Amino acid sequence: MKDIFCRIIDGEIPCNKVYEDDDVLAILDISQTTKGHTLVMPKHHCESLLSCPADILNKVMAVAQRIGQAEVSVLGAKGVNILTNCGEMAGQTVPHFHVHVIPRYLGGEGGFRLTMTEQDTSKMNLPVLAKQISEGIK
Ligand code: AMP
Repeated sequence: MKDIFCRIIDGEIPCNKVYEDDDVLAILDISQTTKGHTLVMPKHHCESLLSCPADILNKVMAVAQRIGQAEVSVLGAKGVNILTNCGEMAGQTVPHFHVHVIPRYLGGEGGFRLTMTEQDTSKMNLPVLAKQISEGIK
């Protein structure tokens, strides 16, 4: 079964379109975390950034950059969060790669705060960990 973003791309479900070209579609998020919260996605289905071909990924990120710039220049945002969730465990709810572009306003309502918990690094071997990841890069 098609995911909801494939259905939007195919015109089966309406959306508030922000940008479109041959490879990329950007729409307003149905739940506006802040005013102007936009989703940028490839038209060709892929599940997340991790499985997105590099040439398409570059196009999606270039559009996300331009939309972030527009949110600053047109909406008066003072900052922008650009983020993508990869996999259910990371909070991805729609299994079609998309990048959130979320404008942030001075004293504005809404938004979110990223809180990162710190692990006890004394129990980790950081050089080995770095080498492990490094050797896994294809
Ligand atoms: P994520 O949790 O990163 O997968 O983000 C999915 C986003 O898609 C959420 O912020 C939803 O509000 C948004 N969303 C779900 N359905 C629609 C829709 N029909 N149109 C626009 N945005 C949607």
